[in-house]
Amino acid sequence: APATPTTLDVLSAGVRAPLATGGDIEYAALDYAASAPVLRRVWEEVAEYAPYYGSVHRGTGHLSRLSTELFERSRETVARFLDCRPADQVVFTRSTTDSLNLLAAALPAGSRVFVFETEHHAALLPWAHHGHHVTYLDAPDSPEHAVALAESALATLRGGPALLCVTGASNVTGEIWPIAELAAAAHRHGARIVLDAAQLAPHRPVSVRELDVDWVAFSGHKLYAPFGAGVLAGRADWLADGEPYLAGGGATRVVNRLADGGVSVRWATDEARHEAGSPNVIGAFAIAAACRALTEAGHQTLVDHEQRLLARLRDGLAAVPGVTELSLFGPAADRVAVASFTVAGRDNGQLAVQLSERHGIGVRSGMFCAQPLVRKLLGASADSAEDCDGPLQALRVSFGAGTPEEHLTRLVDAVAELAA
Ligand code: PMP
Repeated sequence: APATPTTLDVLSAGVRAPLATGGDIEYAALDYAASAPVLRRVWEEVAEYAPYYGSVHRGTGHLSRLSTELFERSRETVARFLDCRPADQVVFTRSTTDSLNLLAAALPAGSRVFVFETEHHAALLPWAHHGHHVTYLDAPDSPEHAVALAESALATLRGGPALLCVTGASNVTGEIWPIAELAAAAHRHGARIVLDAAQLAPHRPVSVRELDVDWVAFSGHKLYAPFGAGVLAGRADWLADGEPYLAGGGATRVVNRLADGGVSVRWATDEARHEAGSPNVIGAFAIAAACRALTEAGHQTLVDHEQRLLARLRDGLAAVPGVTELSLFGPAADRVAVASFTVAGRDNGQLAVQLSERHGIGVRSGMFCAQPLVRKLLGASADSAEDCDGPLQALRVSFGAGTPEEHLTRLVDAVAELAA
């Protein structure tokens, strides 16, 4: 069977996990949707760069200049990876959560925002938190239904700034959303669209141009880079006009003490406007290295590998009595390498602990920071108030580059054993 190319080897390969029964076993990392392991190649490129590490922008020394150049080149690499338009900005942030909050802070005053209730909390919550008028859309039961729901909500717009925020692939069901169609619907009604690509970008190529989205956000730590950096890329106008995300050094052009005793500021209008403070140069460099690695390996090789394993996983789980897969769009929907399920009559949180302690398998349990969606999929009433540690829990398996088929076979066998 074709494997993923060795350029996509991950650092966690071969790590061993202790078993509660004694001894240890090769760890099966099946929680890539939370944080993917780092690509060996990314780590090596960061190590090669490390001696040249220096503060960016104003430093005139050799290392500062080199670091500034690498930092700015990392922006260009990300822009190419996302197939951005020439005038788009690439802002380095801390994460997808940070990127979406930054955009929420930059939106014009009085913006209307449309968001499906099925979103990860990072995409669901920033808009109201920053004082915008939010319309929450119901969970659709098919991609076509999603477009129809968005279309009828957007049709209520009567001018003024508006934004639709949608995920590219669900972090709960892995299902892929009809982004190009939603972008067209948003634009037909004079709204803009931001794509939460936290789960899509690690698994599928994302083209800002082809999808015709206005902004895209993703996290380095889900894209095989280490923690600490993310991206918000897209149209410059609202970013250049919007409130700077943080006030501080680097984001300013001119700062003056005024005769009246106050202080005046003229803010930068390029990416620096939203990158106040010393930026995470290593994080940006690592994201760029991951983008290069995925591009050079060929995304399609990775998609083929993942889809083959995903079919094995879903068939295997479907054959275990009591197992139900969580899905909005139905079993045939296109999805990335993420699958959530429950085992009837069992404490699913406890099962996740047993998978770790008895089988050396790392999955995720709970509601995956998408509580309205998981409540709906588990049939809980809308006003149920369980938190992630309560009885309302599902299990999530997610994987990607470097995952051997054996890890998924082991997971299916372990679930069958624990469910029996
Ligand atoms: N959106 C989606 C769809 C996600 O899966 C996640 C992470 N689980 C986020 C946003 C938030 O990403 P981060 O924690 O890196 O900010």
